[in-house]
Amino acid sequence: MDKKSFSDLNLNPWIIRQCATIGVKDPTPIQYHCIPEILKNRDVIGAAKTGSGKTLAFALPILQRLCEDPYGVFALVLTPTRELAYQIADQFAVIGKPMNLKHCVIVGGMDMVAQGRELAKKPHIVLATPGRLADHIDSDETLNFSKIKFLVLDEADRLLGGHFDEQIRTIFKVLPKAKQTLFFSATITETLEKLKETIGTDPFLYEAPADV
Ligand code: ADP
Ligand code: MG
Repeated sequence: MDKKSFSDLNLNPWIIRQCATIGVKDPTPIQYHCIPEILKNRDVIGAAKTGSGKTLAFALPILQRLCEDPYGVFALVLTPTRELAYQIADQFAVIGKPMNLKHCVIVGGMDMVAQGRELAKKPHIVLATPGRLADHIDSDETLNFSKIKFLVLDEADRLLGGHFDEQIRTIFKVLPKAKQTLFFSATITETLEKLKETIGTDPFLYEAPADV
């Protein structure tokens, strides 16, 4: 197969330069397949094993879109654990540095009031675990997520169809209908139908071969 490069993917040169600063020079298969589809405004369901670069598969196109239209909370990324929320936040922060990206991590175990203040500053990207974000939505009617352009479910198979369901419903209710939905996980087979049902559109589906 041809060697794929980031410059084939319609990404802005500044994003490619930022990637190079953290040693990311060529896209992984899930990045190569999903980034162009996300930039075409499609909903995407992507699956590939842990360590295959799923975070940048959604972070790079979201950052590219954001620098074209930086207004209000732009993307909401849900993850099942605090650690993942911080790891994803770090990747957004590094790549988004040249555009003064504002992000905010909303996870359990931290002060609700301080988090509420951060949310009120309208960060571009909110990274959250479902429970704590649902608590904020329940306790503050002024929170406004109507400008969200992207909803990402990272580790989507762990977020759907289990004990997060009620919290996820609370969150989905305050999100606008017109948005792009991106689901990423290590496996999708068991939850694929549920994912498609949740998205409600015809998503682009990428599943890495078992050895990738
Ligand atoms: P996953 O979510 O699929 O488990 P991550 O997105 O956390 O994987 O990425 C795992 C590691 O690989 C991270 O340290 C990340 O910086 C690195 N990485 C991501 N994309 C690339 C790439 N294209 N080239 C080299 N390293 C990459
Ligand atoms: Mg991941």
